[in-house]
Amino acid sequence: MTLSMSGLIAASKRHSNELRRLSKEPVVQDAAITAVLNVARQICQRVETECAANRGSPAQLEVRSKEAYAWFALLSEEVHVQLHLQALRDARMAARDYLVETRQDAEIHLLPMRGLWRATTRKGIVQHQFSELFACADQPFWQAFFGAFAKQDITAARRLLREMANTDTAREWMTAVEECIPEDEAAPQGVVFDLESVFARVNDQFFAGALEKPQIAWTRRTTRRTFGHYQFARDLLTISRSLDSEQVPDFVVDFIMYHELLHKQHGLTQSGTRLYAHTAAFRTDERKFPRYQEATQALAQLARRRRRR
Ligand SMILES: [Zn+2]
Repeated sequence: MTLSMSGLIAASKRHSNELRRLSKEPVVQDAAITAVLNVARQICQRVETECAANRGSPAQLEVRSKEAYAWFALLSEEVHVQLHLQALRDARMAARDYLVETRQDAEIHLLPMRGLWRATTRKGIVQHQFSELFACADQPFWQAFFGAFAKQDITAARRLLREMANTDTAREWMTAVEECIPEDEAAPQGVVFDLESVFARVNDQFFAGALEKPQIAWTRRTTRRTFGHYQFARDLLTISRSLDSEQVPDFVVDFIMYHELLHKQHGLTQSGTRLYAHTAAFRTDERKFPRYQEATQALAQLARRRRRR
């Protein structure tokens, strides 16, 4: 069954405009953030209700609506809204330099879309539409991109986009987007591993039993290269179904659990205007896992094997 929801795409454009407007305000009030969060959450709820009424789930929406839905789900978390706004500011700042040269005006959007970037000119204004993925791009990226664009070196501009999309940060981000399509998480009791007991074990061994238990679930689907995820807003820790297998040793599942719990413990660190999850302190703690090398190698191997299939 495929559900179609054309209104969703129009709503994402409206929402993108609102975010763009907000990003131009010198100070964004908390109330304004709450308002955009509420819009996103309400839209998600409406979609979920409508899907349920049709005995379906958002996972069954046709692809563009599904992306729009995932985008709204992503922007239901404040940290993602802040990243979105910051990326718009950074991009605008970088674009300003080339505006002086070309005397063109630019309008920048981050949207749910298939490709990475699209530019169209309307009434002398260049409309740049970037995939939401670029919410995790930094200032140097935007400088380089608009630098290339100003020189009309579209090949270089596209290369920069692809390179950015291939960074670890971008991949993590994409996973976050994908995981926003809730196929309602599966129970923590898997076929081989029970995540509740994995949590208890890891919590005892590494956190002196002091960490509060988040919601824990297996993903419904298997994944290719990301095996765990922690969502701050929902205090939800998911581990990829791909690891619920007899071929996967205990300590590998423990390691993923440990990594995701470190996210819960460390939170996000703000540096300048950006938020980081994998800080140096995080990496130091991560290496305290006794079989760190073995575990990371096992996971890399698993990711390679899955890709070949
Ligand atoms: Zn991580």
